[in-house]
Formats: sequence, C-alpha cells, structure tokens
Amino acid sequence: MEEEVDGLIDLGVVIREANGSWDKLRSLVQHLPDEKKKQYLSHHFKPSHGDTLHSHPVTKKGRTWKVSFQQHWLLEFTWLSYSHLLSGGICRHCILFPEQPERGDGLGQGNRSGTFILSAYQHPYSKALGKDGVLVSHSKSIMHVRATERADLFLRNFHHSSERIDSRLLQQGNHLADENKHILTQIVLTVEFLAKQGLPFRGHRDDKVDFSREDTNRASPSSSSNPQIKECLVSFIHLDRANAVGISKKILEALTHPSLSLNIHKICGQAYDGAAVMSSDKAGVQAKIKE
Ligand SMILES: [Zn+2]
Repeated sequence: MEEEVDGLIDLGVVIREANGSWDKLRSLVQHLPDEKKKQYLSHHFKPSHGDTLHSHPVTKKGRTWKVSFQQHWLLEFTWLSYSHLLSGGICRHCILFPEQPERGDGLGQGNRSGTFILSAYQHPYSKALGKDGVLVSHSKSIMHVRATERADLFLRNFHHSSERIDSRLLQQGNHLADENKHILTQIVLTVEFLAKQGLPFRGHRDDKVDFSREDTNRASPSSSSNPQIKECLVSFIHLDRANAVGISKKILEALTHPSLSLNIHKICGQAYDGAAVMSSDKAGVQAKIKE
C-alpha cells in the first residue's frame, strides 16, 4: 500500500488501492493490523479551520456559485472524515468494516455504488443535509449501521485488550509455559545432582515417618526459653564410600568442622530419605550418628 501523503492518517490511501472493488477493499482492511485500524478510526486527518476544502459549482436559474464541503459536518456526523488525498468525504466505519449494500437499503443510487466507501463524497454538497440528504441517508443505511456497530465493538475490545478472550488465553498459555520451564530446570538440576553423586532414582513417600516418635521429636525446643530456628545448607559432601559407616563418618566430620561451631551433642533430630543405608535404626547412618 502506498504511503500516506505528508504522513497524514488518511483512509483515502485504502480507497485508492481498492480501485472501486468491494472485494479488494475487504481484503485490504482484513490485512490491516488492529493498531492501524485504531489509528484510522480515532486519529484520522482533520482539516484545520480556514483550510479551503473541496468545492463544486452549482447553477440555478442562470446563476452560478460554488458550494464546498462544510467542516461542521465532521462534528455532526462522527463517522465522517475528510480525505485530504481524495478531496472529499469518506465513512471511516464503512471502509474499515465493509458490508456490501443490500437492495432496498434506503440508499440513493449514488450510495449503492459506494460513495463514502469506494469513492469520496464530492457532490452534490447542496444535497448533503435534510431528510433525504446524502449524509443523512448514509447514516441511516443498514450497511452503515452494521459497520458502526462493528467499529464500536472493535474500539471497546481494543481499549480492553486485557479482557479479551484471546489475550487471556495467551496470558494463561505463557504462564503455563513459564511454570513448565521452571519445573524442567529443577528436574535437570536434580538429575545432574544424582548422576554426579552416583545416587539412584527413587520414588518414596515420607508420610510413613512418624514424627511423634521420641527419636524424631526432640527438635521441640523446650530447654530454651527463646529458641531461634535457622534453616541452612551446611555442606555438599563428596563420598568415597556409600555405606553407613562411610556416610556417617563424613556427616559427623562436616558437622564438627570448626567453621560451623556446632555442638553435635545437642543434635535432636535426624531425617533421611527411605534408603535403608540411611534410615535403618539398626545399622543405617541414623544408628551410627546416634552412637
Ligand atoms: Zn458508513
């Protein structure tokens, strides 16, 4: 599509391109981005006061004078714009949301051929107003009423784009994708960790652990009047041997490291996953640490 003259927002560009064809017009506006449609609907070129607008001569009873496009029509008919490019009146609604006029639509012969839509209104300006005036009959036509409904709906949806079903679905989709990316990252990190440590994949549930038992319940801070509970990662430990003796030795080494200044005699609870080497209270790491 050719560029607008002097950067003006002017639907005359679309009319020129359609070249008198309803089909071409429909296809052109169908491919206009919503932003552009909104621009045409709300920010169309408006002539300034004092601009000389299009005029044509009228001859009556041997007398000839000029009638011109009247600026105040633009205020009276909100769908009407003046195309600087085509020097005449056009209907923003019918151009952007075109419907072919129906028979018996109350349109004058001139309008059925697409005045305001496929060509600019340039004459006769002397018959613009009044009950059967060109502007009035266009306003009342079924084609125009429908186009206006669609234009209003378009603007409402445009202003509330966050409430539109399509953008809500898009938002939900994006949210789900973000969540899945996060989950995938965690899975990869876990697999990497297990592989590096030579640990098996295991599925188990911790809900069999009975926290009311004496050996798991000692964390209740009854001896101190003002307990401060802090949760932190103490260390990653490389294991040379993965048996109960080796693991518990490493754990105790880590806990007694001078940098931690922890008193291991005050340990009041242990928790492990369900692997027997860790949790067995006969020969597992749990038993060894208790010793
Ligand atoms: Zn119209």
